[in-house]
Amino acid sequence: MDDPTLLFPIMFILFLLTLCIWGYLCEKKEWNKGFAPCGTRWKCFDVDSQGGLGYACECPEHHCIWISYHHIVKEVGDGRVI
Ligand SMILES: [Zn+2]
Repeated sequence: MDDPTLLFPIMFILFLLTLCIWGYLCEKKEWNKGFAPCGTRWKCFDVDSQGGLGYACECPEHHCIWISYHHIVKEVGDGRVI
């Protein structure tokens, strides 16, 4: 493990992992257990070509989020928020 050429790929992988975890935590915070900032439930309105789930609320402000980590949504329980 003293080979310095290994250091860059390891750092790169750690960097990617950090990005993934950060993205996951951000989406989880936005998802807010299925509720928009206004207190109404998110409703799925679209799925993009990469599998991201688009959610919007029904309040006049039309809050909107995109979820790419699907298991965040499944944490709600019966998964019937869609
Ligand atoms: Zn709203």
